[in-house]
Amino acid sequence: MKRAILIILICVLVLTAVTVGAAAFRLWDGGRLTLILNGAETIRVEYGDVYQEPGAEATLKTGVPVSVDISGRVDTDKVGKYLIKYTAGTGGAVRTAYRNVYVVDSQSPVIKLTENPNGYTLPGQPYQEEGFFATDNYDGDLTDRVIRREADGKVIYTVSDAYGNTTTVERTIRYMDPAYPQILLEGGQMAFIMAGDNYQEPGYTSTDMEDGDLTSKVVVTGAVDNMTSGIYTLQYSVTNQKGMTTKLDRTVYVIPKPEGEQTPPEGEQNPENGENPDGEGAPNVDLPTGGTTIEPNGKTIYLTFDDGPGEHTGRLLDILAKYNVKATFFVVGGKDMSLVARAAQEGHAIAIHTYTHRYSEIYSSDDAFFNDLYAMQDLIYQHTGVKTMLTRFPGGSSNSVSSAYNKGIMSRLTKELPARGFQYFDWNVDSNDAGGAKTADEVFDNVTKGVAKRTNSVVLQHDTRDFSVDAIERIVAWGLCNGYTFKALDMDSPACHHGVNN
Ligand code: ZN
Repeated sequence: MKRAILIILICVLVLTAVTVGAAAFRLWDGGRLTLILNGAETIRVEYGDVYQEPGAEATLKTGVPVSVDISGRVDTDKVGKYLIKYTAGTGGAVRTAYRNVYVVDSQSPVIKLTENPNGYTLPGQPYQEEGFFATDNYDGDLTDRVIRREADGKVIYTVSDAYGNTTTVERTIRYMDPAYPQILLEGGQMAFIMAGDNYQEPGYTSTDMEDGDLTSKVVVTGAVDNMTSGIYTLQYSVTNQKGMTTKLDRTVYVIPKPEGEQTPPEGEQNPENGENPDGEGAPNVDLPTGGTTIEPNGKTIYLTFDDGPGEHTGRLLDILAKYNVKATFFVVGGKDMSLVARAAQEGHAIAIHTYTHRYSEIYSSDDAFFNDLYAMQDLIYQHTGVKTMLTRFPGGSSNSVSSAYNKGIMSRLTKELPARGFQYFDWNVDSNDAGGAKTADEVFDNVTKGVAKRTNSVVLQHDTRDFSVDAIERIVAWGLCNGYTFKALDMDSPACHHGVNN
């Protein structure tokens, strides 16, 4: 079939040549005309660029140039495939050639990140986008198609254009650790007043590393009703220009005025023959007037202090006197006995702890124990005129350390002491000031949490520990504001005995 067509074609051509005469020569002369494209047969042009037509050369074998007709156009504003046709002809000889021109978009989009020169992210906080936009030479605005993710302190932005050109940029998150503004409360974070007394704001200042003095920007919320007993919280808040806020509380205890003067504990605690060194009798406490009182909550706190007196005992007595609160001191020998005398004179119970506080001696035998006990009783008597029958074992009645010196001694002593007319006291609230607690806050927490659970609390503290004494005003204020009654121990007080372990 193809062969048949070819034969017919040849016949037609021969027939034409015969008919046209001279032209027939030129037709067969076509082999002398050549058409050659300048440049490549396929050209790629970037979208938006100018397409430079390279043209084509047509020449006769004789070297005579023949003009080339170019048809087809390239629209570089439109991505696509364009066909350019080159035609050269002279007489009956015609040559054509084609060139493919591809208008392409091979340019990647551009992502621009906006940055706040003062921008920062607080450690642990998510990054707050400062802004970005993406453009593409072909697609235009691609901002909506940007995909962003946050990882390892960086934000990664990715966008692709319609032709799959992808751009990725990263932003390193600037984590800053700027200083918060500072608030300094004059007089500290606690204030104590008696109900009816005026409360005056002790004052405050605020500074910021960058903003400077921010005192005028401090906002104080809350109020104190000085006529109504209770615990009030004032909040001080300040915000710097970076939006960082510092808040600080001040707790104001409006303490109920004592209802009359409390009498010193009965029984053994009273001076028997007026031998108080100071000889003045009951303490004279200035009591404020006015203000409401707190309804008693029916619970009693027995504050007890072991191992003193010591260098902090004086200020402890000052605080107790200020609120007319009575406590119990389990004292040891070899200390400043004038402090013991003062404590007794101010109505506190003085009790025997031990003369030596040396476990290896006092727990070596029953006799050794009682020798130590009576020596301390005598010493107290000499300085206070009080022959106390109140005592507390070193280590408490539950101690097991004594078993290293004498097996079963605690079992015997806990029976023998009452038989000899003594009463021993352990404790049921441990401030832990000789254990894990190292700050006044911890002592306060341990004591207040402990007493809240009990009707009668015997609290163990040591007035040899400064931070334990530091917690006292707060403990007393808290107790009084919550309706507790503070009492010194006496022979009729709840004994609070531990289980014996030796
Ligand atoms: Zn002790």
